[in-house]
Amino acid sequence: MSCNASSCSSGSLDEQRELLKTELCRYFEMGSPCPYSSSCKFAHGQCELKQRQRPRNYKTKQCRSFHGPSGICKYGSRCQFLH
Ligand SMILES: [Zn+2]
Ligand SMILES: [Zn+2]
Repeated sequence: MSCNASSCSSGSLDEQRELLKTELCRYFEMGSPCPYSSSCKFAHGQCELKQRQRPRNYKTKQCRSFHGPSGICKYGSRCQFLH
């Protein structure tokens, strides 16, 4: 029996943690109280907002949307792929 590495989810937890508080909470942006309060995984203000760490492959691959038939990428300059 061999271990199938792709079924192991140990790597995804770190990824999720890295995404914590890299975006503003939608409730906060709308000016309404956040139901998740302090356990919210989004930032409640610019001071909580962390700089998103750029992925290792940042802008090393061509963006499939930008270089696709539409030529439009919804991420714009925030896109992690090459435009
Ligand atoms: Zn929130
Ligand atoms: Zn793009």
